[in-house]
Amino acid sequence: MKVFIATKNEHKMKELSRILTPMGFEVICEKDLESPIKEVEENGTTFEENALIKAKAGLECTGYISVADDSGLCVDYLDGAPGIYSARYSGVHGDDEMNNKKILKELKNVPKEKRGAKFVSAIACVFPDGRSFTVRGECHGYIGFSEVGNGGFGYDPLFVGEGGCFGLLTPEQKDKVSHRGKSLRLFEKEIKKYI
Ligand code: IMP
Repeated sequence: MKVFIATKNEHKMKELSRILTPMGFEVICEKDLESPIKEVEENGTTFEENALIKAKAGLECTGYISVADDSGLCVDYLDGAPGIYSARYSGVHGDDEMNNKKILKELKNVPKEKRGAKFVSAIACVFPDGRSFTVRGECHGYIGFSEVGNGGFGYDPLFVGEGGCFGLLTPEQKDKVSHRGKSLRLFEKEIKKYI
């Protein structure tokens, strides 16, 4: 079955397709299309709403079942920020380096026991007949005191979860414990009810 992955984020694309392909899906992404998908405004108030906005835009452009992930980091000490604003926390969309610097600055001198954080991934799936569903995966940990490793993407070098700092995990290790690994495993169970 063909599934369109509605994301412009190469890292997410890789993570989503390495989990979806072994499930038997034929994964289609933006570069397989003749023209790029339109930019959408992520103006939802939750991860789930934003994932649905992106998946619906993918369906509108392609006509295929479309899947989108909206994800981010929620830091306890920052009252859940950056949350749904994770990609643009420093002001520039997708500037991982600046985002990480900002978090480290805000958590300067904050002791380990107050550095709790979680990653959240909401996956939305929309069907051409109008049905849709969302699932959510979370993984808990804390924010380290400096950036460690160069694996993964985004906030991975700052986040210490099950298995250690995400910046040091192999892709396989990350998939086993990550928010996205969890949400996609839920997705696999849920989509079977729809097809
Ligand atoms: P989105 O594309 O609007 O969902 O933004 C997601 C943002 O959250 C990314 O740009 C990263 O900053 C962060 N993020 C989401 N998932 C991960 C992950 O697995 N590792 C590190 N950062 C992540």
